[in-house]
Amino acid sequence: MKITDVEAIPLRLPVVTDAADSTQDALVVRVRTDEGLAGIGEVDASPLVIKAIIDAPKSHLISNGLRALLVGQNPLEPARLWDRMYEGAMFFGRRGAVIMAMSGVDIALWDIAGKATGQPVYRLLGGGYRERVPAYASTLMPATPDEAGREAGRWASQGFRAVKLGWGGFGGDFEHDAALVAAARRAVGPHVDLLLDLGFRWEGRHAVEGVRRLEESRPFWIEEPFLPDSLEQYARLADATDVRVAAGEENTTRWEFQELIDRGHVDVIQPDVTRAGGLTECLRIARMAADRGRPCVPHAWSTGIVKAASLHLLAAIPNALFLEFCVWDSPLNLHLVRPPFAIDGDGTVAVPQAPGLGVELDEEVISRYRMR
Ligand SMILES: [Mg+2]
Repeated sequence: MKITDVEAIPLRLPVVTDAADSTQDALVVRVRTDEGLAGIGEVDASPLVIKAIIDAPKSHLISNGLRALLVGQNPLEPARLWDRMYEGAMFFGRRGAVIMAMSGVDIALWDIAGKATGQPVYRLLGGGYRERVPAYASTLMPATPDEAGREAGRWASQGFRAVKLGWGGFGGDFEHDAALVAAARRAVGPHVDLLLDLGFRWEGRHAVEGVRRLEESRPFWIEEPFLPDSLEQYARLADATDVRVAAGEENTTRWEFQELIDRGHVDVIQPDVTRAGGLTECLRIARMAADRGRPCVPHAWSTGIVKAASLHLLAAIPNALFLEFCVWDSPLNLHLVRPPFAIDGDGTVAVPQAPGLGVELDEEVISRYRMR
C-alpha cells in the first residue's frame, strides 16, 4: 500500500472570539492511499499554519513539507514515518507546530492501519487495558461563584464523576479564585472530583499560598498554574504541596515531557494526541510517565477526532486516569464525526471497537465550515 495524498482541511466557525476555546476552528488531516483506504486525523493548532507545514514544497534535504515526505511511502509504518517527518522537516521543526502537524498525520496513519487490519487502533497500540474510560466534563470557569456552582452542578447532575473548570474567571485574586471553587464544590457535593485549570494566571512565588486557599475545596489537581517553560516554578510548587500539579498540553515530543517530569516535577502529564506527536509519540510519552509513577491524562479540547484518538491511547496504557470530555456547545466539538460520543450512567465513555479510530467525518459539517 502507498500513500497518494495528504490533505489538510482547515475548518472555522463564522465567529471566533477571545475565549480559551479551541473548538472554534480545527484542522482535519486526511491521508489517502492507492488501495482506496483513507485515514483521518486532527491537529488542534492554528489551522492555516499547520496546512502550510503539510503543503510546503521541498526546500532541501532536511527542509520538506510533510506531504512531500509521505507520498509514495507505506502508510502501515507509522514509527518509521514519524522519524522520516521529524528528520525531513528538521530545519524548521523539531518542536512546536511541526510536531503538531506530524501528530495529525500520525493519527490518520493509525486509522488506516486499523481499517487495513480490521482492528480498533488501541489493539494495534498494544492495548487493551480497559474498554471504558471515566470521563471528566471539561468546561470554562464562569466569572462569578453563583455561575461556577451552576456550571459544575449541571455536569455532575448529568452523570460525570469529575468536572474541570478552567481559564475564564480564574486569576483575579486568590480570594475570588477560592470563592469560585468553593461554590463549585458545594454544587457537586463531596463525591465528584473537581479539577482546576489556572490557565497560567498565577505568579510563581505566591502559588503555594494560592493552593493552600483552595485546599478546603479538595481539588483533584491544579493544572497549568504557570507558563509551560517555567519549570523551576512548577518544581517548587509540586514539591511544596500534596495537591497534584498537572501540565503538558503545550508540550511536544518525549524530550519535552521528560523535562516536564524530571525538572518540573509535574505529577500528572497531559500530552494532547493531536499536538504532542500523535499516537506514536504519546504512547512513548505515556510509557515514560508510567516508568516514573505518573498518570497520563491526555489533553483533548477540540472535535470528536481527538476524543476518539485519546480513547485509543487511554485503552492502550497502564497509567490512564480520565478522558478529558469537552462539553463545550460548539458544532465542531459536537457534530464533526459520527457516531457522537456520550457518557454512560456510570460516568464512563466506551472505547470505540470498530476498525481504525472508529469514527467517520460528517462531510456536510466539513463543507459548511471549510475555510476557502
Ligand atoms: Mg488546560
